[in-house]
Amino acid sequence: MRPSQAGVLYNTSIWQRARRAFLLLNPRCVVCADPAQVVDHEPPHLGNHAAFWDTSTWQPMCMSCHGRKTSAQNPHTARNRMRRGRR
Ligand SMILES: [Zn+2]
Repeated sequence: MRPSQAGVLYNTSIWQRARRAFLLLNPRCVVCADPAQVVDHEPPHLGNHAAFWDTSTWQPMCMSCHGRKTSAQNPHTARNRMRRGRR
């Protein structure tokens, strides 16, 4: 996994729009039913464009559940996330 590559995908305006539309339709976290703030990929897209845009892999998540999931998968990301704070 190359996080910098995946970051490029997330920074596009088309992704921002798609993400917002998805969260309007799916406003609740799949784990805890809190208001969802992020779109998670399950299974992870691993930087693959086709997988990234396959909406059947998208699921709404709140920040804390997503953070927990990400830290379970990748201790590196978890550390960066913690340094940046909770919001
Ligand atoms: Zn949640």
